[in-house]
Amino acid sequence: MSSTTLSVVVVGGGFGGLTAAIECKLRGMNVTIIEKYPTSADQGDVIDFFPNGGRIIAKWADGRVGRDMLKCCINQGNKFEFYNQKGEFLCEEPWNLYPHHYPHQFAGHRGEMHELCMNYAKEIGVEVLLGQSVVDYLGSDDDNVPVGVVLASGEKLLADVVVAADGPRSMARQKVLKLPDTKVNSGYAIFRAFFTMTEEHKKNPLLKSFSDPNEDMTKLWAGPDVHCLLYSWNKGNDVGWVVTHKDDQDIGESWSFPGTIEDTLKYLDEGSFEERFKEVVRQTPPGRIVDYKLVWRDPLQTWLSQSGRTVVIGDAAHTHLPSSGQGGAQALEDGVTLAVCLDRAKGDVKLALKVFERIRFNRSHIIHMSGVSNRDGYHQVEWTREFVEANPGSMTVHRLDWVIEHDAEKNAEEHFEHLAADVKSGKQGTLEELSLPAGGHIPAVALDAVKSQQSEEIHIDGHKINETVRKIVSSVAA
Ligand SMILES: Cc1cc2nc3c(=O)[nH]c(=O)nc-3n(C[C@H](O)[C@H](O)[C@H](O)COP(=O)(O)OP(=O)(O)OC[C@H]3O[C@@H](n4cnc5c(N)ncnc54)[C@H](O)[C@@H]3O)c2cc1C
Repeated sequence: MSSTTLSVVVVGGGFGGLTAAIECKLRGMNVTIIEKYPTSADQGDVIDFFPNGGRIIAKWADGRVGRDMLKCCINQGNKFEFYNQKGEFLCEEPWNLYPHHYPHQFAGHRGEMHELCMNYAKEIGVEVLLGQSVVDYLGSDDDNVPVGVVLASGEKLLADVVVAADGPRSMARQKVLKLPDTKVNSGYAIFRAFFTMTEEHKKNPLLKSFSDPNEDMTKLWAGPDVHCLLYSWNKGNDVGWVVTHKDDQDIGESWSFPGTIEDTLKYLDEGSFEERFKEVVRQTPPGRIVDYKLVWRDPLQTWLSQSGRTVVIGDAAHTHLPSSGQGGAQALEDGVTLAVCLDRAKGDVKLALKVFERIRFNRSHIIHMSGVSNRDGYHQVEWTREFVEANPGSMTVHRLDWVIEHDAEKNAEEHFEHLAADVKSGKQGTLEELSLPAGGHIPAVALDAVKSQQSEEIHIDGHKINETVRKIVSSVAA
């Protein structure tokens, strides 16, 4: 069988599912997406795709989708500014870390960006079933029996491969991987909002510095146990903000659970945050704040079903904390890597999925875990200008080259053959040992850190890394 006769069912039309669907379709496969929301065009607030994710979108339709995205994303001005909670300026770095990132770094309103991708999927012929839920997965060890899904209507859809991209609250983890949902309260939650500034807002002396018709901006404030982000773009009209704070409330994630101004301000008053940021929160129109509990899920041991023909990808496989800055981009990397593997395996779905997992596993693992170390890095320091000057790079966002310069498609093309040979020869070992190290290689700095530091606390590029990452890095260093 060639890859072009493959039928692919994708569960979930988030960015991970959409990318897998688009990339498979571009390689000639027959693809259907099932998405339970009738539309998500107006949902969410700000999402970032750093260049490793954005470069995947930037290739679609000879760059048209990326160009359209840039029109509604942060692209005017090139500053990322950092403050402490009192509003003292600490440092800045370019928003596009390198000039070549400009055409493929996208941050903007999630709904608008999502709609552009969804429209492109439809345009190239992906079949999209909106407003339909998958309630069960069909699988069999008999390779001659197709895998598939059952819809809430009772209809069954069969395929050669099923891609479960059903997000953080994934049902596939239980039905396909047979795993209980091991979510635990991360101890943090976020309040977040998006709104369009009115003329009244723009006249407000505390808000007007966040509405510049000539300059988009991204600013971060960090204080003990809380950090905040503010984005302003679209000629100073659109504002998005996020407050990450400690939280011990009941765990549950929802993009529609309402938050209040009063509750948000409680966390800012405790940290005596600067008035400009508090005013943005106070002036947020009713109904725009979402209270999102940050749930932690440990990395999974495998993303493949027993049949080897259903795979879990994106947030369903690795639910990132926002502080990794990579949830969306990693879902996109999954999507394109999967399509390359299905294409290169020429119809051998089981081989394709095993190689996919080996290419993605360690890189995804390490980036997933960095969400914890990044967050702690911001919260555990009394930020002053003197501290930042004495510790350059401590405050800025950890956009490491091996993460953001990565070309997932090229990487998959380069490594498919030798990993396929390993799979076929039955090379033994744990998935950590067999997987590609992050980015094709573990950064030398990580290896050196593990080799040279005896203490329990390992630091990579100024960031403490935790036990799981240490084990992964150690297994490669050994
Ligand atoms: C409504 C919404 C708003 C979001 N807003 C933001 C934001 O503002 N900022 C940000 O950084 N991230 C946001 N995210 C998360 C972000 O988009 C993802 O973390 C990231 O892009 C990874 O994408 P994913 O495709 O793996 O998962 P998701 O984006 O979570 O997509 C999973 C999709 O699967 C669908 N689905 C789940 N179960 C079923 C089922 N049984 N049958 C059919 N469909 C199903 C869901 O409706 C969802 O659309 C949002 C996600 C959603 C769903």
